[in-house]
Amino acid sequence: MIRLSLEKGRPRRYWVRNRDRWGASSVFDYLIVGAGFAGSIVAERLARVSNKNVMIVDRRSHVGGNAYDHYNEDGILVHKYGPHIFHTNSRQVFEYLSHFTEWRPYEHHVLASVDGQLLPIPINLDTLNRLYGLNLNTSEADTFLKGLAEKCDSIRTSEDVVVNRVGRELYEKFFRNYTRKQWGLDPSELDAAVTSRVPIRTNRDDRYFTDTYQAMPLHGYTRMFENILDHPNIKVLLNASYREIRKAIPHKHLIYTGPIDEFFDFRFGELPYRSLEFKHYTINKPVFQREAVINYPNEHLYTRVTEFKYLTGQEHVKTSIVYEYPKANGDPYYPVPRRENTEMYKQYKVLADSTPGVHFIGRLATYQYYNMDQVAAQALTAFSKLQGERVSEGGKSPATLCQSVADNTDQSRPSASIANEQQPAA
Ligand code: FAD
Ligand code: UDP
Repeated sequence: MIRLSLEKGRPRRYWVRNRDRWGASSVFDYLIVGAGFAGSIVAERLARVSNKNVMIVDRRSHVGGNAYDHYNEDGILVHKYGPHIFHTNSRQVFEYLSHFTEWRPYEHHVLASVDGQLLPIPINLDTLNRLYGLNLNTSEADTFLKGLAEKCDSIRTSEDVVVNRVGRELYEKFFRNYTRKQWGLDPSELDAAVTSRVPIRTNRDDRYFTDTYQAMPLHGYTRMFENILDHPNIKVLLNASYREIRKAIPHKHLIYTGPIDEFFDFRFGELPYRSLEFKHYTINKPVFQREAVINYPNEHLYTRVTEFKYLTGQEHVKTSIVYEYPKANGDPYYPVPRRENTEMYKQYKVLADSTPGVHFIGRLATYQYYNMDQVAAQALTAFSKLQGERVSEGGKSPATLCQSVADNTDQSRPSASIANEQQPAA
């Protein structure tokens, strides 16, 4: 524990991890703002591979960003900021993280409460048969959906994506109201990418994700982050916002993973980020619901209920659940993908690109609706770029491989390991 005097206000206590103390005269090679996937991975690479001295700060009281998990007062492992399921097609990202955690194989399943039934979502053959009391096979279901689909000439919005594929009735039962609740916007006001995340199937595959690698960190995300950051070159400062400490911590370069509009004092206006309220409960019985997650498109103010023991595999006589209530204000959880927001982000991006010595990465700083693996890939790419590396592997540099994952996890299946970089100790 060290005491750090702020320029204004009373001195406050910060918890600094790693045993050796931070000398006030140290100049850090890098100050990293945010200890989520983006900040932590870059910190680890800079410290281990490049032997840089790194200070990573977070305004929260913990590392891990939104993936943070902890044992609650009943001893059940829960995800403070909602369910986080790891899935990726990138062998490179999976291998990288495997240096810091063992895994528990886990395939995610979700049910949606529609018309008084709990039905598989993504919509699949069983969803259709049970909803309509039919007994279709895959080819008949294809024909059935073609009959329902309302073909759009150009697919621009989240409404177009679904209506074009399954027609208006299924769109209204499964997507319209969930999306309105989640985003405070009609699907017609959101980019196609939002509802495109949820596929439509006519087979019986009821997995939420189809990625090559699907697993949960065996001992939880927070343990994995502690391992990532466990290096003598890395100092971790918690309960400290960038604004408070920026002048007190001498540094040569800055890596910023917080909201980009905040960094620039909202010069071009506030970028909308959607927030959530998480209501956690522990129930005095071993099982609460039939599946890990149940979505409620049309009922209640919450969107979904998650029961953590399905995700973690923990055995316990009690069970813990979380309800997610979307809201406009509060912690920024989701960038809102729509044209006007992208336009505003582009203005910030131009400013960011012309700000020397500062690098912006992560979901908030690049205003991208990225999953964890995409942020991990983005961070590895950013590191490669910082190194100025151009190591060719199979015709592609590691940076290119990672960027393709960040751009589109589903389509890219990079098969390279991290080349010419010192591998972290297990
Ligand atoms: P964050 O995790 O947001 O970390 C940024 C950190 O920076 C935060 O800890 C914040 O406190 C800190 N910070 C910001 N500004 C400042 C400042 N000025 N000073 C100091 N610190 C600051 N992804 C999946 O792959 N699978 C899932 O199942 C999944 N589920 C999700 C469920 C929910 C409810 C949410 C919100 C997200 C989910 N995600 C999921 C996405 C995942 O959370 C992100 O991709 C990932 O956490 C982004 O990492 P990051 O480092 O970019 O940002
Ligand atoms: N969605 C929906 N109904 C569902 C599930 C998802 O309308 O039952 C839409 C909704 O707009 C949601 C988006 O698809 O925000 C992406 O869903 P995903 O489960 O990927 O959301 P996340 O886990 O990122 O919150």
